[in-house]
Amino acid sequence: MKIIIIGAGPGGYETAAEAASRGIEVILISEGPLGGTCLNEGCIPTKALCSMSSPDLERKAEVIAQLQAGIAQLMRNKLITMVQGRAKLLGGCNVEVDGIQYSADALIIATGSVSASLPIPGAAEALDSTGMLNLDHVPSRLCVIGGGVIGLEFASIYRKFGSEVTVLEFCPNVLPRFDIDLSKRLKAALVRRGIVIETSARVTEIDGNTVRWTKNDKSFETEADCVLMAVGRRPNLGSLNLDEAGIDYTPKGIKVDANMQTNVPGVYAIGDITGGMMLAHVASAQGRRALNHICGEQDGIDFSVVPAAVFTVPEVATVGKTEEECVGIEIKVGKANYRANGKAVASGQSDGWCKVLADKSSGRILGVHIMGAHASDIIHEAAVLVALGVNTKNARDIIHAHPTLSEVLLAAIAAA
Ligand code: NAD
Repeated sequence: MKIIIIGAGPGGYETAAEAASRGIEVILISEGPLGGTCLNEGCIPTKALCSMSSPDLERKAEVIAQLQAGIAQLMRNKLITMVQGRAKLLGGCNVEVDGIQYSADALIIATGSVSASLPIPGAAEALDSTGMLNLDHVPSRLCVIGGGVIGLEFASIYRKFGSEVTVLEFCPNVLPRFDIDLSKRLKAALVRRGIVIETSARVTEIDGNTVRWTKNDKSFETEADCVLMAVGRRPNLGSLNLDEAGIDYTPKGIKVDANMQTNVPGVYAIGDITGGMMLAHVASAQGRRALNHICGEQDGIDFSVVPAAVFTVPEVATVGKTEEECVGIEIKVGKANYRANGKAVASGQSDGWCKVLADKSSGRILGVHIMGAHASDIIHEAAVLVALGVNTKNARDIIHAHPTLSEVLLAAIAAA
């Protein structure tokens, strides 16, 4: 069997490696560098910046190069052929790159997303996340438009670097799709660290160093040396030739079924291009689902249980249902604070909190929301509990090592 994969981000390259390990021949086509947005201008360089006290572009480049070499090694497989260039769909499982035609038994589109912007005067003056990752200095005043994941991560990083940071968020809460309790606590923690956050703020114009915005029909101005536009990402649909290839899509992404298959049999789409949860680990899992379907195999991946982490200071992480999503379900809620945790206090990381939502009658754990040090690590125990449908009584019986931050989760479970 032979498959074509378009895009070499975490969705594309991980699926290519997995396919080759199953003895499938792969043609991996990519216009951009190996690793896609995640490695080159997303998750990884952002995490490199998180670990610095000022922007060190050389170190950032080293981190990317090291990880890219690892992926290149993974792709050095006799079953994988790499093709550099822009792919154009020709219909069915046929693709053209620079005048050369490639055909296969199945095709997986994994071309990711690009930064979105606002239709306001001066929008082009703002940097997107890629521009921010290439800044070689610390602006004294940074204005961030959008209090979502990207906006708050850069707000935290540049506040730590010493910038005066203002975040302008359109919705009434930052991280609007997260548990409201969590987003309110994060906002308070960021404000305590000196970040100015304006919610329900509508940005109307960027004019040189001035960002104009309105709130409750009043007009305001924020002066900034640098403006970050972080109002979301949109699927990279433009150049694929989807219309001619007969593939159904909307501006939000390519339409797929539960097996990640498009309306054209044998053609699949995974990751940001499908417009769902724009997370690297979701793209990889969707790639595995598509590959399993191509191979006629079943899997147990549960796409309703996706851990997500935001690398603010403090970190937040979440899995399962938010309290708002539990409408109609009788729930019990357990909360615990980091300041009651020995390891957190001893290590000076006592700013944090954990919330567990469980079904009132069965005790089944439905969702966990954490703010605090190592939230992005602790969340995976919660993901196991939610995915396996464990109830609070059984979860409480699992002995946890002391002193560890993971005991905060146990304390919240005990309180539910
Ligand atoms: P996002 O959707 O998380 O946040 C965009 C924010 O901009 C929202 O809060 C939205 O309300 C706000 N907004 C929209 N229009 C606005 C306006 N006119 N004025 C002010 N605010 C406005 O998108 P993002 O932060 O750009 O991130 C893009 C994608 O990348 C997301 O899907 C995100 O999950 C993903 N991502 C994930 C991570 C991570 O998992 N750690 C890190 C970076 C990006």
